[in-house]
Amino acid sequence: MSVITVQGLKNENDLGIISPHEHIFIDIRNQADIYTEADKAALSEERVSITNLGVLSRNPYAVKDNLVLNNVQLAEKELLYFKNMGGNTIVDATPKDIGRDPLALYRISKSLDLNIIAGTGYYTQDTHCHGVNSLTTEEISKKIEKEILEGMDNTQIRAGVIGEIGLSKGILDNEKKVLKAAGIAQKEKGTGVLIHTYPWSRDGIKALNILEETGCEIGKICICHIDIDIDLEYCINLCSRGAYIEFDNFGKEYYLSKKGDGFAGGAFARDIERVRAIKVLINKGFINNILVSNDICLKILLHAYGGWGYDHIITNIRPMMLDEGISQEEIDLLYKENPKKFLNIE
Ligand SMILES: [Zn+2]
Repeated sequence: MSVITVQGLKNENDLGIISPHEHIFIDIRNQADIYTEADKAALSEERVSITNLGVLSRNPYAVKDNLVLNNVQLAEKELLYFKNMGGNTIVDATPKDIGRDPLALYRISKSLDLNIIAGTGYYTQDTHCHGVNSLTTEEISKKIEKEILEGMDNTQIRAGVIGEIGLSKGILDNEKKVLKAAGIAQKEKGTGVLIHTYPWSRDGIKALNILEETGCEIGKICICHIDIDIDLEYCINLCSRGAYIEFDNFGKEYYLSKKGDGFAGGAFARDIERVRAIKVLINKGFINNILVSNDICLKILLHAYGGWGYDHIITNIRPMMLDEGISQEEIDLLYKENPKKFLNIE
């Protein structure tokens, strides 16, 4: 079996350690918390620096500059930390319209000799462009399938994963349309699908219900971000349906006011709580349903800005897992086998 990387088809057994949900490039500045108070409004226009790191380590949406990754040289430097720690494959889960750059991904993959798998589809409705509103489900699925079969954005660089498909709280109408289109494209092309749901919701169940109607393979669907507000019963429900669940916020331990009506609102679990939840789920027999990554999408997560980087799951989380009684064999399943099965196509 193979996977589709930005450099073409690759044997699934050559993927090594995989991080199945990262962003090498992304631009979600539209999701910044917009403040009306003069002092905070000025803050949101600042560049990320050591002077606002304290604010950002509580609310990462407070500064717009934190929400964009678009520097090729910096991306290469940061990915080298991952490679030097033994990482071999990164999924860039940035779909259309939020800063995806297929050509830059291709060049980085070549220069670093690192497997990169690119995403296709559409994120949350607030980012939709290119007439998603006026397209039918079938038209959207054809666009997604074209990016997998032929290439993205007039290149011959093919997408190898669908996602991350964005769903806002409650799932908005156009998002439902895109979700169905993703299900149809999955059925046609066999690729895995990453689904972003509002982390403080339990919309993953609703998403699976919608996807099931399309006849897609639920065993190729991953409900992301279940490790922000960990609810083990919800996790077990999703796993029992045959889907993957993704612990993909390693490194993010924020607290946002629940009163906020922005993109995020609530507490983020800590890394140790994530590891302990994984251990519980392994004990309950769900190890084959779990994916692990960092979902790097903010400057402050990069080494250059004081963060732990793309290598965090290897450098810091792997030893934490071992400390908590997760075996090396189990870690190999989480870091190699599971993402390989999620990503492969016939
Ligand atoms: Zn993401």
